[in-house]
Amino acid sequence: MFSGQLPHYVEPRKLADQGGLISGQTTVSALPRLGDFEHSQSQPVGVALTFERDADDGQRIVHGTVSTELVMTCQRCLEPVSCTVTAEVMLALVWSEEEIQALPERYDPWLVTDDKMPLATLLEEELLLALPLVATHEQCPTRLPEGDEPEDNASAGKADNPFAVLASLKGSQK
Ligand SMILES: [Zn+2]
Repeated sequence: MFSGQLPHYVEPRKLADQGGLISGQTTVSALPRLGDFEHSQSQPVGVALTFERDADDGQRIVHGTVSTELVMTCQRCLEPVSCTVTAEVMLALVWSEEEIQALPERYDPWLVTDDKMPLATLLEEELLLALPLVATHEQCPTRLPEGDEPEDNASAGKADNPFAVLASLKGSQK
C-alpha cells in the first residue's frame, strides 16, 4: 500500500496479484512529457489506481483515475484557459505483442517490459490521452472596447433650462 508520496517504480504483476492500491500526489513537473505545459509545472497530479485480477477472466488489470489541471490555449480567443484533465484508467497488463492481440476489447493494453515499471511513464501517457482535443473557455473573457463610451453631456445644459427662465419671468410679474 502506498499513500501520499508516490513510488517512482511499481511492480505491476506483484501489485495485481496482491491487490494493491497506489494513491497520492505528484506534480506536473515530475512528468517530463508534460514539459510543454510551462505554466502548469507546479500543479498537483492526483493519482488513485487499483491493481487487481479481474474477477471474471483473471486478467491482471489496473484501473482508477489520474487527474490534474493544465493551462492550455483557448481556441476561440487564444487566451490561456485552465482545463481539468482526468484520465479514466482501465488497462490490462500484458507482457507481449501476442497478448495485446488476444485482449478483450474493453481493455487497453499496458505493455509491461520489466518487473519494475516507472510510474511517471504511465501517468503522463494516460494524461496525454485524456487531453481535450480543443480547449475553450466556457465563456471567453470579453474586454470592453476602449473610447466607445457615451460622454455625459446631460449636466452641461442645465443652466439653459427653459422652465427655469419661465419661472423667473412669472416671479417678476407679481
Ligand atoms: Zn476563450
